[in-house]
Amino acid sequence: MLDKKEHLYEKAVLVGLVTQNQSEEKLVEYMDELEFLALTAGATIDKRFIQKLTQQDPKTFIGSGKAQEIRDYVKSNGIGTVIFDDELSPSQLKNLGKEMEDVKILDRTNLILDIFAQRAQTSYARTQVELAQYQYLLPRLSKMWSHLDKQKGGIGMRGPGETEIETDRRIIRDRITLLKDKLKTIDKQMATQRQNRGKMVRVALVGYTNVGKSTLMNAISKSDVFAEDKLFATLDTTVRKVVIGNLPFLLTDTVGFIRKLPTQLVESFKSTLDEVREADLLIHVVDISHESFEDQVNSVNQTLMEINAHQKPMIMVFNKIDAFAYEKKEEDDLTPESRKNISLEEWMKTWMSKSQYPTVFISALNKENFPEMKKMIYDEVLKIHTARFPYNDFLFEYHDEEAEEPGSETSED
Ligand code: GDP
Ligand code: MG
Repeated sequence: MLDKKEHLYEKAVLVGLVTQNQSEEKLVEYMDELEFLALTAGATIDKRFIQKLTQQDPKTFIGSGKAQEIRDYVKSNGIGTVIFDDELSPSQLKNLGKEMEDVKILDRTNLILDIFAQRAQTSYARTQVELAQYQYLLPRLSKMWSHLDKQKGGIGMRGPGETEIETDRRIIRDRITLLKDKLKTIDKQMATQRQNRGKMVRVALVGYTNVGKSTLMNAISKSDVFAEDKLFATLDTTVRKVVIGNLPFLLTDTVGFIRKLPTQLVESFKSTLDEVREADLLIHVVDISHESFEDQVNSVNQTLMEINAHQKPMIMVFNKIDAFAYEKKEEDDLTPESRKNISLEEWMKTWMSKSQYPTVFISALNKENFPEMKKMIYDEVLKIHTARFPYNDFLFEYHDEEAEEPGSETSED
C-alpha cells in the first residue's frame, strides 16, 4: 500500500497504440508528452508498452493478450499503476480492471485532471477541477474503484475519488449541480471584475504548455511595470498592468493548451478562456526548440477556433532560440532529411513568409531580441488603442527606456 510520501515516486508504466490513425512516430511524441505529464503528477515511468492494432479494441483498448503481458510485468516488478495514452471508455476501464486485478488504471484525461487538481490555487479553479473530476467519474463510478483497495491513494485518487467512492450517483449529480451553480455565481463576479478594468487594451499570452509564457510574462512585466505592479487574480491566470514605451495595457498569462484535452474539460475551464476570448490581442508563444512545435501551434489554433477567438490580431513569438538544436547534414549523408536538419534561419524564413501575423524570434530566458519584440507589441497595442480612443490627443512616441540587460528569469506556475 502506498503511503503519502511514496505517492511522489509512484512507479508506473505507459500504454499506447499505433493505429491506422496514429503512426508510430506520432505515438512516440504523445508518449513523451504522457511521460512528462506523469512526471508532473508525481510518477516515475518504468517502461512503455506499445501495441499495433487497426483501431483500439472497444472492450479492452489494447487486446487481451497485451493486457496479460502488462499485468505480468507490473506484478513481477512491483509497479502499481498503468497509464493509458487515450481516454478509456467506462467499459474499457471495467474490463481492464478485471484483466489486471489489483492494479491502478489511469488514462490521459484522469492524469490531466489530477495535475490540474494539484495545481489549482484559487477556490474558483478548485471548483472547476472538482466539477470536471465528478463529470469524468460519474459514468465510471462503479467500474473504477470496485477492484481497488479504497485506501490506495496517489495519482488519480486525489479529489472526489478519494472520499466519495461509495456514495451513489445521485449524490454526485447533486454535487455537480451545486458546483455548476457556484461557478455561475463566480463567473458573474469575474465578468464584472473584467468590466471594471475599463477600456484598457488587453493582451493575452497563449500557447502550448511549457513554451515559456510565464517566463515571458515575468520578463516583460519585470522590466516594464513601473506604473503599478498590481495583480488581478482571476482563476489561476495572472493579469498585470504593463507599460511599453508609455503605452499601458493589461497582460494576461493563461493556462497552457494541451493536446488530447477533452472538449468537456475545455468547457469547464470556460472562464480561463474568457480571458483569451475577451482579449484584444493575442501573443502566441511557441517553443521552437521543441521537436513537434508545429503540431503544438496547430493544436493551439484549433482551441482558439473552438472558443471563437481565432480572428483576433495576433503576434507570433517563437521562444527558446537559445535551445534550438540543429544537425547540419554532410553532402554525402544519405539519411533522409529530417526536421533536425533545418536550421533556425530556415525556420525563420519559412515562418516569416508563411505567417499572416507579425513574427519574432526570441529567448525569454536571456532576453534575446526583446527590443524587437517589444516594439512589435507596442505597434499592435497602439493600433488598437488608437482605434479605441480616436480623440485622444496624447501622442505616443515609442522609445525603449530600458537598457537591455541580459537576465535569466525563470518562473514556476
Ligand atoms: P509556460 O507553461 O508556457 O508558462 O512555460 P514556463 O514559462 O513555465 O517555462 C517552461 C520551461 O521553459 C521553464 O523551465 C523555463 O525555464 C523554460 N524556458 C522558458 N523560456 C525559455 C527560453 O527562452 N529558453 C530556454 N532554454 N528555456 C526557456
Ligand atoms: Mg505558465
